[in-house]
Amino acid sequence: MSKTLFEKIAAREIPATIVYEDDLVFALRDINPEAPKHVLLIPKKPIPRLAEAKAEDQKLLGHLLLKAAEVAEKSGLKESGYRLVINNGEDGGETVPHLHVHVLGGRHMAWPPG
Ligand code: AMP
Repeated sequence: MSKTLFEKIAAREIPATIVYEDDLVFALRDINPEAPKHVLLIPKKPIPRLAEAKAEDQKLLGHLLLKAAEVAEKSGLKESGYRLVINNGEDGGETVPHLHVHVLGGRHMAWPPG
């Protein structure tokens, strides 16, 4: 199986600004930010999308969300608020088939999303 884009970034084969990393997940600045603060939280395990996650991934997914909140706080977004987004499949707007959580903040987010 060839590596996903995010596996290549985690392996330092493609440059990116990694702002957090542990054994299970890492976070990087989105290359095309949609808000003043836009970070992606990514499990190192290449789960293609949320719909493909298994019961055995429960702990990993919990860790991913807790770290998303931690990264948001470290980015100064705890008080002002922020939005988490997971795009799943074609209608969801997914472009990179390796599960990731968008952390968006630094401006007011509209609802409903486009
Ligand atoms: P999605 O459309 O939900 O699959 O999100 C993929 C995200 O990855 C988009 O917001 C892209 O801007 C971002 N992205 C793509 N390539 C890179 C890269 N090389 N470094 C950082 N972010 C990237």
